[in-house]
Amino acid sequence: MSDCLFCKIVAGEIPSSQVFADETAVGFLDIEPLHRGHTLLVPRRHVADGLTDPSVWDELAVGLVSVGQRLRAALGATGINILSNAGADAGQSVFHFHVHLIPRYPDHPGMADLMTRDARAEDLSQLAALIRG
Ligand code: AMP
Ligand code: ZN
Repeated sequence: MSDCLFCKIVAGEIPSSQVFADETAVGFLDIEPLHRGHTLLVPRRHVADGLTDPSVWDELAVGLVSVGQRLRAALGATGINILSNAGADAGQSVFHFHVHLIPRYPDHPGMADLMTRDARAEDLSQLAALIRG
């Protein structure tokens, strides 16, 4: 889709801090991280949300586990929230399917603090390099 932000990121037309790529999926850092290392994993093809086509979850599966393991190993995340917003009323703002991997740390644990932003300003391209290893 020519006017889709995440299609443009997948195509490399808009820069991103990439942490993962394979044949079917791309992972990159969220520009407004809730917690350090907040990553978005998207299918390469345009699908509006995770309830449009069941096979799109298979396309993310390898990336999901790979990125999750790297967030643990590279950043020391002791927990990770994995979530996807489907529909505007759920908070979806970009209508190209994406899964949020939100690393969590012992100083701000639990669901109640999920939306309490505690990521400090830092260079996302350096952070992506650290996650990629
Ligand atoms: P959602 O609200 O679930 O649709 O999530 C969209 C996410 O995309 C938000 O967390 C935004 O911070 C993030 N976002 C928006 N623009 C960009 C961008 N250019 N690069 C990386 N993340 C982005
Ligand atoms: Zn798209």
